[in-house]
Amino acid sequence: MSTVSAYAATSATDPLSPTTITRRDPGPHDVAFDIHFAGICHSDIHTVRAEWGTPQYPLVPGHEIAGVVTAVGSEVTKFKVGDRVGVGCFVDSCRECTNCQAGLEQYCTGGGMIGTYAGVGRDGQPTQGGYSGAIVVDENYVLSIPDEIPLDAAAPLLCAGVTTYSPLRHWNVGPGKRIAVVGLGGLGHMAVKLGAAMGAEVTVLSQSLKKMEDGLRLGAEHYYATSDRATFKDLRGKFDVILNTVSASLDLGAYLNLLTLDGTLVELGMPEHALTVPPSPLVRMRRSVTGSLIGGIAETQEMLNFCAEHGVRPEIEVIEPDYINTAYERVLASDVRYRFVIDTESLRQP
Ligand code: NAP
Ligand code: ZN
Ligand code: ZN
Repeated sequence: MSTVSAYAATSATDPLSPTTITRRDPGPHDVAFDIHFAGICHSDIHTVRAEWGTPQYPLVPGHEIAGVVTAVGSEVTKFKVGDRVGVGCFVDSCRECTNCQAGLEQYCTGGGMIGTYAGVGRDGQPTQGGYSGAIVVDENYVLSIPDEIPLDAAAPLLCAGVTTYSPLRHWNVGPGKRIAVVGLGGLGHMAVKLGAAMGAEVTVLSQSLKKMEDGLRLGAEHYYATSDRATFKDLRGKFDVILNTVSASLDLGAYLNLLTLDGTLVELGMPEHALTVPPSPLVRMRRSVTGSLIGGIAETQEMLNFCAEHGVRPEIEVIEPDYINTAYERVLASDVRYRFVIDTESLRQP
């Protein structure tokens, strides 16, 4: 076992604070790597603040992890020391169920995927995430980061990137499709960039017009404020697909009316409380509400390669670990442009 520095939550209400955790010695199939950067996802905040149930504390969040390999087990074939690698939201799954076999490990039915943090590993130990100096993960759950993508920019792709890429692909978004992205935060800004790179006509629906210039620069063709009631009149029946990335509960009725016949609203946000779905806007235009969870390992690699090829990079603000608590407050205030990424260098010092 090795000891590494980390930032952990000790309760739902206390600020995160420095600590140390242990990592297992790499087994035959494991990859050990130094973490260089870790993104801050709103899911980290939901989890730490016990909005999805009470997790076990101390809890080291972080599931957008990028770094460099320091050791590999004897049976590892995909990676070698010095490789640039990443880990996303899960570090294991049953590998045997139909979904795992189909590369949809996030939907594992054989006990479920094992979360990168707040999960329980095969060794029975709680998993601890990326706000730390190093990690050990089975090679089948490690991604290869293309040379074109700097490690700090790679980190947010491992959750925000794949979470938006996967539904865009699944619902065949491309040229000729009109999509709306609700909420311009970490997921939302990736949805805009990826949707535009896939050739769709992208509209942002944000609470205000404050970030309009950014949204258009990121690739949106249109930008509307949801605080303006005229938005819901002007855009009625316009979209084939809506991706809702909002971290709070919305009344989906008004948004459903913006879909075409047979249009689809994909819920990506995971607010603590229920969403409201009135029947009329669903029934009248045969619309659907559905959801989507991150993406499988193969699709995550496909997304990284797509981003390398199309020059898609997240917009990031790199911070020191002692800024994590302030960053959380800024995320909660929708004051993120557009992903905080922790430079974990100080956590790599012995
Ligand atoms: P984020 O950076 O905080 O972005 C959320 C955005 O939602 C904000 O920037 C804001 O955009 C909008 N928003 C926030 N509060 C709002 C409110 N009360 N009313 C209306 N709009 C509001 O969060 P994120 O990291 O992108 O994550 C978003 C959600 O997705 C979280 O719930 C997270 O847990 C979930 N998530 C799900 C998956 C999955 O697999 N499905 C993966 C990762 C994260 P504007 O300022 O533009 O309005
Ligand atoms: Zn996430
Ligand atoms: Zn499985």
